[in-house]
Formats: sequence, structure tokens, C-alpha cells
Amino acid sequence: MSTLALVGGPPVRTRPFHDWPQFDQAELHALTAVLESRRWGGIHSQSQGQALERELGDYLHVPHVAVVSSGTAGLMIALRALGLQPGDEVVVPAMTYVATATAVSLLGGVPVFADIDPATHTLAASSTKSALSDKTRAIIAVHLGGHPADMDDLRAIAAEHDIPIIEDCAQSLGATWNGAHTGTLGTIGVFSFASTKNISAGEGGAVVTPRDDLAARIAALRDHGRPPGTSSPHPHLGWNLRLSEFQAAILRAQLARMEHHTAAKERGAIFLAAELSTIPGLQPVPPALDPRVTTHGRFSLAFTYDPKAFDDVPIDTFRAALRAEGIPVGRGTLIPCSDEPIYADPANPDYAPARVAADTHARNTCARLVLLGQAAGSGMLLDEPTELADVTRAAEKIYNNRSRLHEDQRSRDQSRVSPDQ
Ligand SMILES: *Cc1c(COP(=O)(O)O)cnc(C)c1O
Repeated sequence: MSTLALVGGPPVRTRPFHDWPQFDQAELHALTAVLESRRWGGIHSQSQGQALERELGDYLHVPHVAVVSSGTAGLMIALRALGLQPGDEVVVPAMTYVATATAVSLLGGVPVFADIDPATHTLAASSTKSALSDKTRAIIAVHLGGHPADMDDLRAIAAEHDIPIIEDCAQSLGATWNGAHTGTLGTIGVFSFASTKNISAGEGGAVVTPRDDLAARIAALRDHGRPPGTSSPHPHLGWNLRLSEFQAAILRAQLARMEHHTAAKERGAIFLAAELSTIPGLQPVPPALDPRVTTHGRFSLAFTYDPKAFDDVPIDTFRAALRAEGIPVGRGTLIPCSDEPIYADPANPDYAPARVAADTHARNTCARLVLLGQAAGSGMLLDEPTELADVTRAAEKIYNNRSRLHEDQRSRDQSRVSPDQ
């Protein structure tokens, strides 16, 4: 049994997996063309931005697309377009990237944290229902990791209470639910094109809607309150949250390549999920795909880690051991949004009011979650099974060395505390 890399042994893998994001000559040519055009920004007809909006609309089958500077900007625009007022409540999942909630807070709204379904890591319909109040102005469903939330149940609740759904599709471009793209199943869909997302220009986002009445307002809110195609006067209070032409041009090249990537990542994820589930204590998420998930966005591959199967080796040590073996996994400690200092610590100068409806599953999941793929800044899911087998090899190696790792960890813990004593 070879020594773990964490304690000085040879790592399972020294070659890198695929990088993320990916690019080729198409992005290079697109950038040069924008540079030479001298039209680098602004909202123009026949611009890269407008072409990207058309291409995204065709791809998603949605009539209105406005490209914006980030996913967070898109969420703020969506909330403002729906008329969010200070003190209004918005139901958000307790486990998501913090921007889902801070977009609400930055407009003076109150995020209300509802619990997730531990099988999919997306907003649980039952918890959403009990989170509603007479102040609820919207529900934000997050398709976390690329897995669509249960839009059948969430839409039924939204319809019953006449509350709009914003879909946070920052991680789910390409995902479909019953054959329809995420982002087109609610009132407004918001995408992100930040560095780790399914297509990227470093930063960027898009806001999409089937609703004609919201479309003009959304387009105006990102452009100083100017309705599209006009100059002054300004009937809306707007921001400048525009995307540059360089970003739009890169994103067009990225979008053209995306389906190919999604298919490759699907093969990688299916392979890895099956392999990892053979190791005691590791459980891929979801354990089996709901048939209504007609395409998974494959932003990441998530699995839960049960320390009991690993002689109580803490999850941080397990993740560090995987990294040492040459496997890129998420580094940060995961906490539910409701535990973020801005929401949990009233003494924080930036404290923002929030309400917790339920977060038990979110808290338990965060404590056991391991993320592979783009969530860890890696394009690994694009790799072939022969390469990905190293992930299982590394996890098996850690499993086989678990008792020793446990003892090493103990002695390290002791040496860490002793200097202070
Ligand atoms: C990335 C992300 C956002 C924010 O998008 P930015 O482009 O970084 O502002 C919001 N929600 C989720 C779920 C995300 O993953």
C-alpha cells in the first residue's frame, strides 16, 4: 500500500487534467476583429452584443435576451424589473453561491432561506411553500451545479400564490428540464459568464424572459435607464451594467462550442459518478438522475463524503489528501448562505437582514460536500475515462490508508496545539 502524497508519498497523478475555461483560434480572431473595429462597447445595432443576444435567444428558444456585465448584475436587474421594494422578501435556497442572496440584499430586499432537497441540492418545493409570507415578492430557483431545480413543483407553488420565479442559471447554461432550457421555465432567467461557468469571457451575464412587458425594462436597467434604441430622456432609474464587445465576441465563440463540451462532460460525469459510488462513504449527487432532467448542465460533479466510513478522517483532510494526490477539488469551506457573516452576525457593520425558514439539509450537505470540475476551477470532466480513473484511484488510496491518515491527523493536531500550551 503506497504512502499518501499528503504525508510525503508519490502522488497518484502528476499530469494535469483539462483546463477551464477552454479557447482556440476562434476567440483570438474574434478579439482581434473587435479591436480593429474600434467599437469596443456600448449598445449598438449590428454589434457583437446584439449578435450574441440573438444567438442565445435562438439556442434557448426565448424571445428576449439582454447581455449584462455579470450574473449578480443580472439578478439585481431581474429583481428590480419585477418591482422589488426595500423590505420585500425573496425566497432563496439556503445552499447556493452567496450572490443569489446578496443581489436581494443590495436592493434592500430580505432573502428568506428555504431548504434544499439533499438528493439534488436544489430548492425544495415543500420548504419554499412554508417560506412564503404576504411580503414575498419573488422566488429564486438555483440550478446548482447544472442540475435543474424541480420546476414542476416550484411553478405550481408560484402559480398558486401568483409569485414570479427568477431562475438563477449561473451554473446551468445548456441544462434542460422536460426538454426546455433552464432560464425559460420561470418569469426571468439569469446566466453568468464568469471564469468557471459553462461559457465564459472572464465576466459577463445575460437576462432572458418570455415576457414582452419586462423585456424593455430589463434592457433599460442595464443601460442608464435608456429604453433600447433611444437616447435621452431617461424614464427609468438605471445602472451601467453593460457587457463589452470583447466579451460578447468571446462568448459567441464559446457558445458555438458549448454543446460539444456539455456532451463530453456528461460522459465524464457519468463515468466518475459510477466509479466513485463503489467506494464506501462516497455518494454521487444525485444518486440517480430524475428522468425529467433531460440535460444536466455539468458545471460540476458533486459527491458527499461520510467520515464514518473513513475512520472519522475530517472532510477537510480528505479534500487535502485528494489535492495532494493530484486531483483538483474545491478548497474553500462550504457553509450555508444563512451562516454567512453578513446574515448571521448582527454585529457585522455590513449585516443585512434575512429570515431563515429552514436550512437543516443545506447545513448537513455543506459539511459533507466535495466538488469536482468547474466548481474547482478544473475542466476535468472533459477528460477521457482512462484519465478520470485516477480520481477513483486516489480516493481508493485514501480509503485504504484511512486509519493511518486518522493517526497522522491526530498527531498533527497535537503538535499544532502544543506550542500554545
Ligand atoms: C456565479 C454565480 C452567481 C454570480 O454570477 P457572477 O457573474 O459571478 O456575478 C450567482 N449565482 C450562482 C449560483 C453562481 O454560481
